[in-house]
Amino acid sequence: MAHPLRTLASAHGVQIQHCEDCSVLHISIGPVTFRVDPSAAHRLRNVLHSALAQLDSPTQPIPMVAPSGPPLIN
Ligand SMILES: [Zn+2]
Repeated sequence: MAHPLRTLASAHGVQIQHCEDCSVLHISIGPVTFRVDPSAAHRLRNVLHSALAQLDSPTQPIPMVAPSGPPLIN
């Protein structure tokens, strides 16, 4: 079965593609590709945003991330 991928964004060795057959996002960083559903990608974005904010301003309180949804990795 073919899984047609549509590129949503690509820059600096990072590429985000959407499988139009199974609605999974393919997040490629260099040679590594993560396949996650869109809800997991949204949670990944939120956690990554919080982590980068903490990295950029380590004296700031750690922002809370709503603990909703299933884990990113099964
Ligand atoms: Zn697919």
